[in-house]
Amino acid sequence: MLLLKRGCKGEGENMKTWQRMFDQKMEWEKPNDTWSLSVEDNLSPRNPECGWHLYQQRKVFARFQCSCCARCWPSAQVPIFFHMHLDRSQGQGQVKRRVCGQKCKKCHGAKFETLTFSQENIERILDNLVLKIREKCYREFITNRDLADPIVEEDVEGPHDTTRCEACALGICYRSTYGSVIPASLAAASQPGQLAWWGADTESNWKLLCYVLPVLVALLVLAVLFSGK
Ligand SMILES: [Zn+2]
Ligand SMILES: [Zn+2]
Repeated sequence: MLLLKRGCKGEGENMKTWQRMFDQKMEWEKPNDTWSLSVEDNLSPRNPECGWHLYQQRKVFARFQCSCCARCWPSAQVPIFFHMHLDRSQGQGQVKRRVCGQKCKKCHGAKFETLTFSQENIERILDNLVLKIREKCYREFITNRDLADPIVEEDVEGPHDTTRCEACALGICYRSTYGSVIPASLAAASQPGQLAWWGADTESNWKLLCYVLPVLVALLVLAVLFSGK
């Protein structure tokens, strides 16, 4: 089931695809539970309500169309946020989705425009989402945690226009946080999935840091002790 709160033909048509594919995937994975996906334009991107889990898919390729002048443009910097919740006693799950938009550069003061994703990218994003639902809502131990990278379907030229980007306005844009430079530790990631995994799951990275940091401190202390002898 999908509830659409923003009216736009392109978005509406595209959302039917999201709904159909999400329903199919969840019916296959969790046939005994009922899941719904809704669009929430005012979702607080990084602050899910108590009992809800966050999954963010960064840097997705999408195509925008201006509702005023009909101009089209592509972007490879679109972030998508999902908040997920499962009521186990009722067997009902809910996902809320927010996509950050962009403004048309020809129509000054324009609103953040709606966008469309390719079917292939929707498929990949939903596969990632279902994996995170299994992991976070059902607490399943998943051995292969590699997430799929969304496809960049065409070259996007020019620098990122921060003044037109909703994610930049919210202070959550990957591009404005890191510029065009990928941190060296990420660039060294040997598998393509690792970069997406890092970008996609901040919560896990903080947990990882909590484990790694005490070990590093202990090693440093040992090194100082031995060098003093
Ligand atoms: Zn326009
Ligand atoms: Zn941005």
